[in-house]
Amino acid sequence: MKYDVVVIGGGPAGMAAALKAKENGASVVILERDVRLGGILNQCIHNGFGLHYFGEELTGPEYANRFKVKVEQTDIKVMLESMVLSISADKVVTVLSPKEGLVHIEAKAIVLAMGCRERTAGAITLPGTRPAGIYTAGAAQKISNMDGYLVGKKVVILGSGDIGLIMARRMTLEGAEVKLVLELQPYSSGLKRNIVQCLNDFNIPLHFSHTITRVEGMPRLTGLYYAPVDEKMQPILSEEKYVECDALLLSVGLIPENDLLNGMDVKMSNITSGAVVDEYRMTSMDGLFSCGNVLHVHDLVDNVSEEAEIAGACAAKYALGELDNKGNKYNVNAINGVRYALPQVVYSGEGKVRIFFRVGAEYRNTRLNVKCGDEVLLTKKYQIVAPGEMQHIDLDKSKITGDITLELEA
Ligand SMILES: Cc1cc2nc3c(=O)[nH]c(=O)nc-3n(C[C@H](O)[C@H](O)[C@H](O)COP(=O)(O)OP(=O)(O)OC[C@H]3O[C@@H](n4cnc5c(N)ncnc54)[C@H](O)[C@@H]3O)c2cc1C
Repeated sequence: MKYDVVVIGGGPAGMAAALKAKENGASVVILERDVRLGGILNQCIHNGFGLHYFGEELTGPEYANRFKVKVEQTDIKVMLESMVLSISADKVVTVLSPKEGLVHIEAKAIVLAMGCRERTAGAITLPGTRPAGIYTAGAAQKISNMDGYLVGKKVVILGSGDIGLIMARRMTLEGAEVKLVLELQPYSSGLKRNIVQCLNDFNIPLHFSHTITRVEGMPRLTGLYYAPVDEKMQPILSEEKYVECDALLLSVGLIPENDLLNGMDVKMSNITSGAVVDEYRMTSMDGLFSCGNVLHVHDLVDNVSEEAEIAGACAAKYALGELDNKGNKYNVNAINGVRYALPQVVYSGEGKVRIFFRVGAEYRNTRLNVKCGDEVLLTKKYQIVAPGEMQHIDLDKSKITGDITLELEA
């Protein structure tokens, strides 16, 4: 089998990338390990998706369906229940499916769109026994929204990431009592709107700078101890408290699923855990593109779709020999409060380039300076910026004559 563009993953990123690749004249296949397209959005039955991209509020399945319908109207080949096992340096993608067996697909360009997975109890070395009743928030979401089971009736949530916040509301609506949400940091890693709509509106308490010191129960969770942490993030055991619960949901971070790149010569970022990409979302390996949550964790799917469209269009152009990436290349650096910026490489030229960035902590009344050498290209004031909300700026490419630095003013 041969395709101009092979897209790995059929979530919102994969579908948007495939559609743009098709629109740009490429032959395209989507390889998806699940039984349906849509990715994680299939289990996100709450609304709030699509405000930016479609200008209306949709549920996750509705948002995904808009792209799925478009994919079905094209001759994009969709292979479901197809797990990609490996990618070779000469772009042969090996995929396993019950219908087709083991298949090797030759690609001119590849788009990585495999999304991310959640950090588990093991990943955070949760202290105490190992009872039933401890779930990642996304797993609990799937069990509740897709399988129709309630994972518990008295719930504690560790971590204030968006999935945890959404699940606090969902569990309440399904009849469970969400006792509290504990967050290790002094700020939330979730969107402000989710704190208001999912916790405050339901009187669910959120304790910042708190963590779990011990879980209890066997074979089922019966309760847990929690305590505030000091400035070194160590629990203050003299202030430990107990709460009775039968379910603990963990919303303690997402990890891009880049296992397929293990052993490959692709430059990775140890901050985003995704590949380092240029403004076309091409990685350091020619013809290998990345987008969506596998590139960096997004808070809004709208940004995922836009990023994937860039990757898909450029993958098609690369495959057809039309990608203009011969201009001067410059690095985009993040310092002084800016945790990372993406893309990490831009080209000088015409038009604008959009740079996304996240800050490392919560800052109030601050200013972002974007510099090229000593010249300030852009400056922007923020009343408040927080790690949970991805920001962006648009730069004039004609002004880029050297490496760029994004930094916050003290
Ligand atoms: C639980 C949860 C709740 C969220 N809630 C919101 C929200 O309320 N609002 C909002 O705007 N955003 C939300 N998001 C974020 C948004 O859903 C994501 O940003 C978006 O779905 C990411 O799209 P993606 O295509 O990159 O990844 P995904 O949707 O995860 O899709 C990746 C796809 O790749 C497939 N795949 C992975 N590896 C392979 C392989 N080796 N072979 C074949 N297929 C593979 C997976 O099966 C999956 O279908 C949420 C995310 C999560 C995880």
